[in-house]
Order: sequence, then structure tokens, then C-alpha cells
Amino acid sequence: MFNASCEVQQCVLESPELSACLMRLLCSQCGWDAGEAAKSFCDYCGGMMDVSYDLSSVVLHNSSNPYKRFREILPVRHGDHYPSDAAYTPVVHAQSLGALIGLDHLYLKDETKNPTGSTKDRMAGVSLPYLNERGVTAFCTSSTGNSSTAYARAIARFPHMRMFLFTAERFQHRVQHTDSPNIVHFVLRGATFTEAFEYAGQFASLNGLHSERGFFNPGRRRPENGLDRSQRTDPSTHRLVRSGCIQCHGCVRHLDGGQAAGNIAARTPPAASALRATAKLLADGARLE
Ligand SMILES: [Zn+2]
Repeated sequence: MFNASCEVQQCVLESPELSACLMRLLCSQCGWDAGEAAKSFCDYCGGMMDVSYDLSSVVLHNSSNPYKRFREILPVRHGDHYPSDAAYTPVVHAQSLGALIGLDHLYLKDETKNPTGSTKDRMAGVSLPYLNERGVTAFCTSSTGNSSTAYARAIARFPHMRMFLFTAERFQHRVQHTDSPNIVHFVLRGATFTEAFEYAGQFASLNGLHSERGFFNPGRRRPENGLDRSQRTDPSTHRLVRSGCIQCHGCVRHLDGGQAAGNIAARTPPAASALRATAKLLADGARLE
């Protein structure tokens, strides 16, 4: 759904609210426009919903807050709903690993510096404003700890919202939150992660609540896959994000699966093979610098 262009303007202007034409929630299969609704799947064909941006009009703002810098490629129109104290996390130049796989500019981001110690703070800082401005006041979700912990911290800024959280018993110890009137936590004895996910959806359906749907929630998908910048400004620099996903540094466009290998191979031939090599090295327990 993203435009192919990697050209993104740099700008210092601060617009109070994004124009509706800059960001739309569309079905990835038939193009149905969900308007202002919070939809994970298309009402007509069942396809996954995705956020589309007009990159020819997008500007990146000069700000030390990543939510402000990238606000025009995030699925929220009202920027004042983002965390005001968010900051960039540091990058480490992985020289040893880069030398092994032929990349001079390989950087690893240290997302443990986020408030709850994981990259999930990124998505929580965006997904809650996304749901909120689309009229969701109560939602059901499940996780193995990181997402729910990040949600529990972030939802304190939205006291009118309520989260119904479902956790499989074996992951209970990983969910960290203090008692709060807007968090209802169910621990499912003997359940698997998949069963907790399915039960959250069933509970939402039975009680007329919104089902957050994890990765299928377009409000969390983009920010979860990387929201930050490195100190480098070389547009040919690519970053490995999370589980081997790749982003173009210039426009933070996320490249998925086979598309990633094809696009990266076309622009920077060593990168596709490097990605495979990196995955193997990490799987083999390679020691990073
Ligand atoms: Zn559709």
C-alpha cells in the first residue's frame, strides 16, 4: 500500500492535524476504504486492512520525539495524543558482525532502552491513540507479556479507555502492570497463546467490544516494525529490524518478506544474502559486538 518512492521531504513545520487525504485505512485486497472506523479486516472481502499514505506529501519533522518526527507516516491524525516524553533508542555499529557478512554499515538498535524494556512501547504509543480517535473505548487483546505490559503502561494516559487482557497461564509472570481501573486481566489456566488470542476475540464478540487482534491491528503494525532513526543519514543504509525485517533508512518504508529480498537485492545486492547470513549467524549464536 505504500508508494514506491523513497523520496520524503524534510521539513520543520508543525501541522496541528494531518489531512485526511494523507492517510487512509484501505483493504489490501479490494481497496475498500474504512473511513474513520477501526478495522483489521475488510467488511466485504475479508482482506487485511492496511494504512496507505501519500508519500509525495509527507514531511518528516525535526523533533527529538520520534512520534513527532514520523507523525505523517503513522496512522493517527491528532499528534497531541502521543507520548510527550518519547525518545530515540541508541544504535550500535555492529562492526564485527558486519565484517563477517560484508556490511560496513550494519547497526543494531537497543530497544531495551524503551520504558518497559521492549520495542512494544512503540506500538502502544501509536495503537492506543489510533483506537481512541476511531471511537474505541474498550478493547480485548492477548499477548505473551511485552505487548500487554506496554499497553498497560500506555493506557494510563487514556483513563476513559478499558483494556480486557487475556494471558495464557504460562506467560502470566511476563505481564507486568499495577492494578488499574481500566485494565481487566484474565489469566487462562492451561491455555496456549493461540487459545488466549482466540478467546480474546470471542469475548469481544460476545460482549460487543473491539477485538484488538495483535499484528492484524493496522494501528500497531507499522510502528511495531520500527519507529526510529539512526544517526546515519546515508539513504543506502538499511536496518535490520526485529526478526530480520528490513527498512529503508531514507523513508522508513518497511519491506515485507519476499518483497524485501527483491527490493533490497535490486538496490544493494549484498543485502539480501547478508540478511540470510545474519539470520544464520544469529541462529548459530553469533556473539555481537
Ligand atoms: Zn476488501
